[in-house]
Amino acid sequence: MTESTQVLVVGGGPGGATAAALLAREGFRVTLMEREVFPRYHIGESLQPSCLRILGMTGAKDKVEAYGFVRKHGALFDWGQEEWELNFAQLPEGLRYGWQVIRAEFDKVLLDHAREQGATVREGTEVLEFRFDGETPRSAVFRESGDGSSPSELAFDFLVDASGRAGLMATRYLKSRRFPESFQNVAIWGYWRGARKLDHGPENAIAVCSVPYGWLWAIPLHDGTTSIGLVTHKATFKEKREERGGLRQLLLDAVADNSMVARLAEPGELEGEIKVEQDYSYTSDRFSGPGYFMVGDAACFLDPLLSTGVHLATFSAMLAAAGVATIARGEMEAEAVRFFYDGSYRAAFLRLMVLVSSFYETYAGQKSYFWEAQSLSRNDWSGADVKAAFVNIVAGMEDLRDTEHATEYAVAKVVETQRDLRSVMDDPGAVGQMSVVERERFLAKADLMRTLFHGSLAVSPQSAVGGLYVTAQPRLGLARVDQPTAV
Ligand code: FAD
Repeated sequence: MTESTQVLVVGGGPGGATAAALLAREGFRVTLMEREVFPRYHIGESLQPSCLRILGMTGAKDKVEAYGFVRKHGALFDWGQEEWELNFAQLPEGLRYGWQVIRAEFDKVLLDHAREQGATVREGTEVLEFRFDGETPRSAVFRESGDGSSPSELAFDFLVDASGRAGLMATRYLKSRRFPESFQNVAIWGYWRGARKLDHGPENAIAVCSVPYGWLWAIPLHDGTTSIGLVTHKATFKEKREERGGLRQLLLDAVADNSMVARLAEPGELEGEIKVEQDYSYTSDRFSGPGYFMVGDAACFLDPLLSTGVHLATFSAMLAAAGVATIARGEMEAEAVRFFYDGSYRAAFLRLMVLVSSFYETYAGQKSYFWEAQSLSRNDWSGADVKAAFVNIVAGMEDLRDTEHATEYAVAKVVETQRDLRSVMDDPGAVGQMSVVERERFLAKADLMRTLFHGSLAVSPQSAVGGLYVTAQPRLGLARVDQPTAV
């Protein structure tokens, strides 16, 4: 007989573990299937302050806090011709740090926490395929590793696809993954023992440093190692790998090419194997459908320049959990919930994509990123520090705010930005003269404004009142701004 569960979560990374914990806490029967047995290695070590909020909601924050990961107070950029810092001290009290984590350990804390909240967590269990009723996935065929038994089937009411870059729904069924031409990069990295710590900038900052052919990260970890990696275009990677006679020399030479990273690495020793991963950004046409939500990397992936992957995974997991809870309790039409989910997650992704893209123009200078950030935000930054909008977006705060309330100011700002973009679009030749990267950034910005506009005005054309937002009170779900607790 086929077993059943209310919600199946596929993947036990930060996205899957967050969705499973939130839904289990709401009393849903949740099964999470994870192919690997944790702890398992994963890249993505520098986390943003938004995690504090979301892990506060799942109840995992105190466990992560107690674990002893390095507290990160910002980032130090040695970018193009400029050195400057992004300091979380500008954020509201209680949200002024993130963590630098060994992901194998961090992910295990979150997965164990999901289990403790009541989710049935099955590690070493690979989902092989979904079975559908029309467009709605209804069951999963899975196999437990090592026991040699034949596959079994699990029926479910809702699916949260958190399978990461494997992206089961997007790659196997919807065939909806699209790769922009920008950011077709490869990442190569390793771990230095005994490297120096930064002697200026925010405490335990990530160092993000440009080289003529890409950029480097340096992240201090709690076991005394420093993660150092290079991100470069796929063509440069291929060329340099051959030229330098292998991965190790390619990485060592890149480290030597930036004085800040070279100084950090100098007293240390590169230990263990060199890791390499194709790092292409991608997105899907949609992030949800009947009976399912795709969260984290399963839906979209962004170049790690601003260290936002885990933020996007946990943020989308929070939205998806609120969406599933709302639909399952019959509080709102599934279509309205999915519209909100797709719009909110897409807006978060696009906003960061535009910012990352503008960053890649290393010659533009820091002021241009800060202005770009202000134009991407729906908040009023007049009178604030010039970096405030930028810090707010990178830290993940703008996304959390978006799903709470949109003010009339926010709507007016989106309309005005749309007008500016349209005037460029109406100028024959203006878009044609852009480089591929500029055009992709411009179109992403237009898409962002469209998404924010329709999201904000989903119900009432006069203002954002009537839009949806996530609430944790009296229980996790979506609410309408005009009926805050009545849903
Ligand atoms: P994952 O963490 O990938 O989890 C997906 C899980 O699904 C995996 O455990 C996998 O085993 C499981 N799975 C897959 N298929 C199946 C199946 N068929 N059945 C069962 N289980 C399955 N992000 C940051 O926030 N900060 C950074 O500094 C950062 N640096 C990065 C550097 C590089 C080079 C790269 C490539 C990424 C970086 N990221 C960073 C991004 C970050 O790694 C991801 O965005 C994040 O891990 C996404 O979480 P997730 O839960 O969506 O997916």
